[in-house]
Amino acid sequence: METTALNYDSPTSIKEFLEREGLWVTKRFGQNFLIDRSVRGRIVDALMVEPGMRVWEIGPGIGAMTELILERRARLIAFEIDHGFVRSLQSLYASSGDFSVVSGDMLKTWRAQPERPDRIFGNLPYNAAFAIIADLLELNCVPERMVFTLQKEAARRMAARPGTKDYSSFSVLCASACDVRVLFDIGASSFWPQPRVTSSVVQLVPSAAPVPAELRKSFSDFVRSAFALRRKTLRNSLRGWLNANFAAIDETARDAILLETLLSLGHRAEIRAEALSPGELFALYRQLHARVSASC
Ligand code: SAM
Repeated sequence: METTALNYDSPTSIKEFLEREGLWVTKRFGQNFLIDRSVRGRIVDALMVEPGMRVWEIGPGIGAMTELILERRARLIAFEIDHGFVRSLQSLYASSGDFSVVSGDMLKTWRAQPERPDRIFGNLPYNAAFAIIADLLELNCVPERMVFTLQKEAARRMAARPGTKDYSSFSVLCASACDVRVLFDIGASSFWPQPRVTSSVVQLVPSAAPVPAELRKSFSDFVRSAFALRRKTLRNSLRGWLNANFAAIDETARDAILLETLLSLGHRAEIRAEALSPGELFALYRQLHARVSASC
């Protein structure tokens, strides 16, 4: 591996490398490199990679994490949007037999992969982190373990419990497929360039009782509507979802079915989405779907 000229812990070395390669840091792609070797080591440890495992890395940048995964003799596929970085990664790690880079927006490229991975990880671009994780969960690309670094607030939302201020549709989507744990925080000084926020590392492992894969996307759409109008009752916020999915039924009848379903499940008529657990929301989704479909 010809990485001697590039020291991933040194902003000076990284700057020199970028200059030599004719590359630059693009804010739009959330490019902040993790320059703390001990933090990188902790992330790789949390991923529990074993030799021969298929690992996907999202957003390898110039390869700071890539290097450590390859040292563990995994079969690594990296998804990188920056074509300049892709070129550099290919030349840095070309001699590592089990490494390939998929160039382009990960959201558009991952589905074409012929095999699903054993592990997924990434120090995610802040602006695309939600979309990337949601896409993987909704389409049931859920390996035994995923480890993501993202903005601290986003990590708290992923792991949030009902009734807390961080609890959101994203918390429910995560819980519908996985058990989420926030492992540790990373201060801004561990990155170059320094972001303005603290980051956290989260671990996702498959839940023992996930929402069935074939219902996950549809349930996720339902949950997004349920949380769309915060501090509004479910009867208000689910109007849009009912209208989009059951336009053939008159609005008054739809509202009556929703009310009936809420009461039959033991909820108050004026309950809000944030008061319900992921399991309760799923039960509501199933019942409501069945009742409205039956009245069509
Ligand atoms: N992994 C490197 C590290 O820890 O030093 C870089 C992490 S940096 C926060 C995020 C990386 O994701 C950048 O390399 C950026 O170009 C890449 N990226 C941003 N959006 C992407 C997308 N939609 N698909 C694939 N890569 C993306």
